Amino acid sequence: MTKELLEKLCCPIDKHDLEVNVFNEAEDGEILEGLLSCPECTRYFPVIYGIPILIPDEYRDESLEEPLLKKWGFELTESDDSELPLLEEKSGGQG
Ligand SMILES: [Zn+2]
Repeated sequence: MTKELLEKLCCPIDKHDLEVNVFNEAEDGEILEGLLSCPECTRYFPVIYGIPILIPDEYRDESLEEPLLKKWGFELTESDDSELPLLEEKSGGQG
């Protein structure tokens, strides 16, 4: 996914602009692994192998996303207010 494409992407739910964390970038600047997040609805969308995974809630599989999120230093936490788990950045330090 190129950064030009990123600028054209928005949240599929509310059309809000997405924020991005880049974890792995190609030499030409293409984003290979990263995390798009929507500040409006707090949804997050992983970028895997350069492909942004912008899919509706009902087709998402947390068990596929969770290992990647952990690798990138994020953690899913259950929320009482939302059907979606919340994404939290792990604070530094080990174990
Ligand atoms: Zn949104």
